Amino acid sequence: MLDADLVVAGVGIFPNDDLAREAGLATGNGIQVAQALGTPDPDIFAAGDVANAYHPVLGYSIRVEHSMNAIQQGTLAAGSMLGDNTAYDRLPYFYSDQYDSGMEYVGHVGPGGYDQVVFRGDPSTGRYLAFWLAGDVIRAGMNVDVWDVNDTIAGLIRASRTVNARQLADQDIPLPGYECLLSSRRSDQEGSRHDRSAHAGQLPSRAHRRKLSGGTGSHRRQRG
Ligand SMILES: Cc1cc2nc3c(=O)[nH]c(=O)nc-3n(C[C@H](O)[C@H](O)[C@H](O)COP(=O)(O)OP(=O)(O)OC[C@H]3O[C@@H](n4cnc5c(N)ncnc54)[C@H](O)[C@@H]3O)c2cc1C
Repeated sequence: MLDADLVVAGVGIFPNDDLAREAGLATGNGIQVAQALGTPDPDIFAAGDVANAYHPVLGYSIRVEHSMNAIQQGTLAAGSMLGDNTAYDRLPYFYSDQYDSGMEYVGHVGPGGYDQVVFRGDPSTGRYLAFWLAGDVIRAGMNVDVWDVNDTIAGLIRASRTVNARQLADQDIPLPGYECLLSSRRSDQEGSRHDRSAHAGQLPSRAHRRKLSGGTGSHRRQRG
């Protein structure tokens, strides 16, 4: 507990889309772009925090305020400028460190909200997974001090698989779809890991540095 005469809490940001709005582009919670990150003006693209991009997997436009999104959208926008019309379909993702805890989150609950949060592992231990379910479908998931499971969680969300909440919470039962996902070549965070390594100098994350250096045995052997 710290004594203080005055506490200033700075919470929240807003996208600086004034320039785009003044240029006549559609704005509203950022610069509105299509799935390949282009605006109706063929010479203007938007990526990162300021881009409110249509997401083909989620089925709605979303603005994501996280570093991997900025890095990966920047790359894709550059390709779009060169004539590649690939959609940006990576699921929203972030990693963070909160004191001694490292965590990754993937997915998005969306405007429909969620019905329950299912924990896999005991949160009081500081090592667990959390899943946000709408009905029987996983919309988002977070791994806290448990590593190498984010690809699996992303695969479950991408596949919109129905799950049994009780089985999902039971650590004695493998995560649903785990076996087939292991053999899947396409995953959201495989790319992220690669990019995170490539951009190590720009990402001042302790968890990131820990992973680049191979992590601790106890972290990396944690079971999903
Ligand atoms: C305190 C804090 C902690 C964060 N922690 C995490 C985290 O743990 N994990 C995570 O994934 N993300 C985190 N983020 C979010 C992450 O930093 C952002 O998602 C990322 O920096 C976005 O990159 P960007 O290039 O889209 O935007 P920015 O990094 O904001 O860059 C935009 C640049 O454009 C410039 N600019 C704006 N308007 C104009 C203009 N009209 N003309 C010229 N230049 C202009 C700005 O000055 C700025 O330099 C954090 C952010 C903050 C603030």
